[in-house]
Amino acid sequence: MKVQALLGFRDILPAEIAVWRHVEQVARDLLERFHFAEIRLPILEKTELFARSIGAETDIVEKEMYTFVDRQETLRPEATASLIRAYVEHNMHLAKPVQRLYTMGPMFRRERPQKGRLRQFHQLSVEVVGSSSPHLDAELLTLAATFLAELGITASLEINSLGCPECRPAYRNALLAFINERLDRLCDDCRRRSVTNPLRVLDCKKTACRAEVQDAPSIQDHLCSSCAAHLDGVQQDLQLLAIDYRLNKFMVRGLDYYVRTTFEFVSDDLGAQSAVLAGGRYDGLVEMLGGPAMPGIGFAVGLERLVLLLQQQGETSSSAPEIDIFLAALGEAAVGYCVGLQHRLRGDGFRVDMDYAGKSLKSQMKQADKARAAHVLIVGDQELNSGQAVLRNMETKQQAELSLDHTIIGSAIKTS
Ligand code: ATP
Ligand code: MG
Repeated sequence: MKVQALLGFRDILPAEIAVWRHVEQVARDLLERFHFAEIRLPILEKTELFARSIGAETDIVEKEMYTFVDRQETLRPEATASLIRAYVEHNMHLAKPVQRLYTMGPMFRRERPQKGRLRQFHQLSVEVVGSSSPHLDAELLTLAATFLAELGITASLEINSLGCPECRPAYRNALLAFINERLDRLCDDCRRRSVTNPLRVLDCKKTACRAEVQDAPSIQDHLCSSCAAHLDGVQQDLQLLAIDYRLNKFMVRGLDYYVRTTFEFVSDDLGAQSAVLAGGRYDGLVEMLGGPAMPGIGFAVGLERLVLLLQQQGETSSSAPEIDIFLAALGEAAVGYCVGLQHRLRGDGFRVDMDYAGKSLKSQMKQADKARAAHVLIVGDQELNSGQAVLRNMETKQQAELSLDHTIIGSAIKTS
């Protein structure tokens, strides 16, 4: 019986690894320049961590979590809640007044698989805890914009403010009054949302609902003075730093913990799942999870969507050699000899491979080509007797005869 991977779960095959590593490396290099430290978090957490922080009435918690119901444990659907849980658990506010942290790894959401949407996917999460300055919001947006630019990905930035517990209730009421006048023209989901979480109605993807809420009151007109000043501060920095953006009053994000600044980078090349990177401020979250009253802000990037964009741009194939040398051993004695030589060359730091099956020279050369080996050393009985063998540079096609000695072979690989 052939067992296949679960729907929405996929293997990342060796041919795709180069682009994945490239994305990860660009991220790590950039995050170091911005003085971020890596943190690695568990994949399984207590269910209540997500229910409380993301919000019980969000799509994620209501429909998308993988939960072991008998144990009240859940595969993480995102990393912010776990990261803040760790921040509180390890009293990280005592170590540094402002903690700048990032983490990368798989997330799990049981949604309908489609282009750009999987059930196991990977995120890079970038979080800063300990500052409420609008300069920080702008710095994170600059970091995100630089990251995408360094990858060569074009995406546009949309920002909004969701206000705070001071000003959001009044906006919620104004919005609710507007929605209630059109309730019969909205979809079932929106009618349900109007009771549980009316801001989510603004986020409905259905064309009919979108048209209905076109003229909905804007949260930007309902912000309290400090939220308005914060949004102004963010915009001033963005203009100063020449980061392009657009204010989008409909962007509400699907998680309850956000306050004030929220943002998304969207791409036209992804179809319906257009968001590549999204995040926002979560000033009450640390306290809600039992920690000190510390403000925070962060974002998550879906790595599959970045890889998809890079693959669409055709920037994924690598022609770099996989190995420095392939040992083509002809005959049993030569295979035995090359086992030792391979071991020594690897000890010297070279990337080496060989074939044990005693195949023909032609088929071993094919194998070396497939691995894009930089060099091939041909060893048969005659070479073993004379102690001399031919080293072939696969790119220049030049051949050199040299002694069968790992240091001599090693320096020939380096210089030819
Ligand atoms: P969407 O609106 O596309 O469902 P979201 O608002 O649920 O996204 P977040 O929870 O903010 O997304 O996650 C941040 C990023 O993670 C998204 O912008 C996207 O790139 C990626 N992402 C989210 N869900 C998935 C998924 N099921 N498969 C692949 N990537 C995902
Ligand atoms: Mg989603």
